[in-house]
Amino acid sequence: MKQVSLKIESVSKIFKDYKGREIKAVDNISFEVKPGEFVTLLGPSGCGKTTTLRMIAGFEKPTSGRILINDTNVVEIPPWKRDTAMVFQSYGLFPHMNVKENIAYGLKMRKIPKEEINKRVENILKIVGLEGFGDRPPSSLSGGQQQRVALARALVVEPSVLLFDEPLSNLDVLLREQMRVEIKRIQREVGITAIYVTHDRTEALTLSDKIVLMNKGKIEQIGTPEDIYERPASKFAAEFIGKINFFPIEVLEIGKEETTIRLKGKTYKISALPTAKSEKYILGCRPEGLKISKEGPISGKIKTVVYLGNFIEYYIDTEFGEVMIKIVPPFESELVEGSEVKIDIVPDIAKIIPED
Ligand code: ATP
Repeated sequence: MKQVSLKIESVSKIFKDYKGREIKAVDNISFEVKPGEFVTLLGPSGCGKTTTLRMIAGFEKPTSGRILINDTNVVEIPPWKRDTAMVFQSYGLFPHMNVKENIAYGLKMRKIPKEEINKRVENILKIVGLEGFGDRPPSSLSGGQQQRVALARALVVEPSVLLFDEPLSNLDVLLREQMRVEIKRIQREVGITAIYVTHDRTEALTLSDKIVLMNKGKIEQIGTPEDIYERPASKFAAEFIGKINFFPIEVLEIGKEETTIRLKGKTYKISALPTAKSEKYILGCRPEGLKISKEGPISGKIKTVVYLGNFIEYYIDTEFGEVMIKIVPPFESELVEGSEVKIDIVPDIAKIIPED
């Protein structure tokens, strides 16, 4: 498998709506994908991730900027000459062809000899776990199996870059989890450079080497899943990547490795620096970063208790709005709906985040 790098350099895309008004779908974004890397474009609906993917595939032309595959600017190259392949949400399989014929289609178009086609199709069927399914029509397969055929069809032409446009959104929850693991395994096994579009943070966290988090056509943050979860550079990033509680704080001192803050009159040394520079900061605590404790400065009343077996979620009304805490066993049975509690933070995993 060829391993290529991809560079997006100052790329913008402006559409015109039906009244001729300009829509900045993608606003001057830059990022890099290393050979063999799995990068996810993550963000809310309308943030420009699909447009970015379509520009990489060649279905849309950037209004400005460059797209480099192995240092060659491909902006003027049509999609079929770009050496990319896309896996769509809706599979896009041909219903009148069996699985083998569907997978072989792109190779036939490329006039690859028959024996070579058969060899490659058999090999790819093995990789996607569909050995023995070659003669079946797509309609006789489950959604997950059809998505594997679509993946095989994209992989078999040995593209340099594999593009995924929300490929799992049509699958049910269990199948989606299975396919997530499968996609990652196959991408690793084949070693292909991959770009994956999703609005699902769990998919982004579990699949990616790197996440490009987008909002309103711009990039909010680029980092590993851990970077973005543990050190979100903005309030938007913190909330988009996972549940978080925010509290107003006073920052007393920013040291070399720790920050001294005051939260409702109680002083803490937080073992982290602010995640980005700002005039004003807030404290961000994930549900696992709070505890119920008599020493806690935040008062609240438990509104809802959700038992989930391996942990309990407490939804608590406080002066800062609803706070969610996740507790692992051993559970305290006296904490019931209506209980008055004090909440404290876990300073080791609290985050100091720019307020705006
Ligand atoms: P979703 O998850 O809903 O697909 P997205 O993040 O992929 O969202 P895009 O589809 O890239 O977002 O769209 C970004 C913006 O550009 C949106 O405001 C959208 O309405 C607009 N847009 C996309 N394609 C076109 C088009 N062909 N003509 C006009 N506007 C467009």
